[in-house]
Amino acid sequence: MYNTIVVGGGVSGLMAAFAASQNNRKVLLIEKNKRLGRKLLISGGGRCNVTNRLPYEEIITHIPGNGKFLYGPFNTFDNESIIRFVQNRGVSLKEEDHGRMFPFSDKAGDVLEVFLNALDDNNVEIRFRTEVAEILSSDNSTAGVKLTDDNVIHSENVIITTGGRSVPNTGSTGDGHRFAQAFGHTITDLFPTEVPITSSEPFIKSGDLKGLSLENVALSVLKKNGKASITHQMDMLITHFGISGPAALRCSQFIYKEQKRQKTKEIEMSIDFFPETSPGKLKHHLENEISVNKSRAIKNILKSIVQERLAIFMLNHLEIDGTVNGHHLRSEDLEAILDFLKRFTFKADGTQSIEKAFVTGGGVNLKEITPQTMESRRVKGLYFAGEVLDIHGYTGGYNITSALVTGYVAGNDANQKMP
Ligand SMILES: Cc1cc2nc3c(=O)[nH]c(=O)nc-3n(C[C@H](O)[C@H](O)[C@H](O)COP(=O)(O)OP(=O)(O)OC[C@H]3O[C@@H](n4cnc5c(N)ncnc54)[C@H](O)[C@@H]3O)c2cc1C
Repeated sequence: MYNTIVVGGGVSGLMAAFAASQNNRKVLLIEKNKRLGRKLLISGGGRCNVTNRLPYEEIITHIPGNGKFLYGPFNTFDNESIIRFVQNRGVSLKEEDHGRMFPFSDKAGDVLEVFLNALDDNNVEIRFRTEVAEILSSDNSTAGVKLTDDNVIHSENVIITTGGRSVPNTGSTGDGHRFAQAFGHTITDLFPTEVPITSSEPFIKSGDLKGLSLENVALSVLKKNGKASITHQMDMLITHFGISGPAALRCSQFIYKEQKRQKTKEIEMSIDFFPETSPGKLKHHLENEISVNKSRAIKNILKSIVQERLAIFMLNHLEIDGTVNGHHLRSEDLEAILDFLKRFTFKADGTQSIEKAFVTGGGVNLKEITPQTMESRRVKGLYFAGEVLDIHGYTGGYNITSALVTGYVAGNDANQKMP
């Protein structure tokens, strides 16, 4: 009989197993892969963006999927606790842009090693290549787990850290949602987040701009009334199926949300190619370029302002003859060019699949979980932590922070509840 069984040896399960095994508690960690932490190893481009050092408010803002829920767990364990946990165990961390924390070595394996050693120190038993099929209960309390080979293992507490449904070859195939539903928990709509956006616009289909990389643009998802539902000012990339890169990934969940709100597949987006220049200043700049290059073709003048491929595309799109020289450019064409540069609109028709997404949106309904303990409000001794929950953040260490914090709180509560 174990005090606690942790189902799923990913980011959250590793921390939950550590916290649950303090004070010599008997803990079993069950993982269906032959190794632990497969997703941790590929996170942050293989460098593991282990947490983020921004203040709480900023962290919450970067977790648009129910970030506020984390205020409760943060009372017990927060981003600074994660930093101490890793550094006190011999792996130095460094801070990069926007508060992102990485191991000094840039090796995710070093972070995983911290957890493996911590579990070893606490004598956590680990079963690899073992898949949980069902969570058992009696008298509205957890009783243990049943494996896919029909073996039963008993425990007082069960912590479910099976992740979401993204990148299923790492092991996260949504099993925890099924386990939760079996106890009457609700699963909110599941959708892909932090994923490239698709579009069937002719300029995408033709591949005219394929591979075009745009630096520091403002990408917006538009509401029905044309106002921005969200804007992200970052880099982006035009691909053969739509758009990708940091700005597109961050906007992706809002495509799903607007599709639901507007009850339509196609959602308008816009790009401001010069987000830091007001329309007036941009006009002044363009007029100046034209006046000093009067005799040059407008397509050549524009090349000094935007990339050549974009300049040619813009002129074709606006049906402006690129060979017209600056002197003869009509004022309405100048206005059209300025409009394009400040607000080029196009339609997205969705995103790539949840399996291709970095993060799963939706999950176990948070109304049914106590934030101070991560225990189910329905079944005693049943806990949920990590991406299985309806919490999703932008990439930047926010999801891993959520997984580690909720994992710790769940494990710690299971640990302290025992006689
Ligand atoms: C490529 C990539 C890059 C990312 N980069 C970042 C980043 O930079 N910053 C950030 O914040 N987030 C990032 N993320 C997201 C982050 O990695 C996840 O949110 C986090 O790993 C979730 O942790 P978890 O423990 O909840 O789930 P997971 O890490 O998915 O772990 C779940 C574990 O449960 C096991 N399991 C599932 N079902 C069963 C079962 N029935 N029986 C036994 N075991 C089971 C799985 O095999 C798996 O090991 C990235 C994700 C990807 C895919």
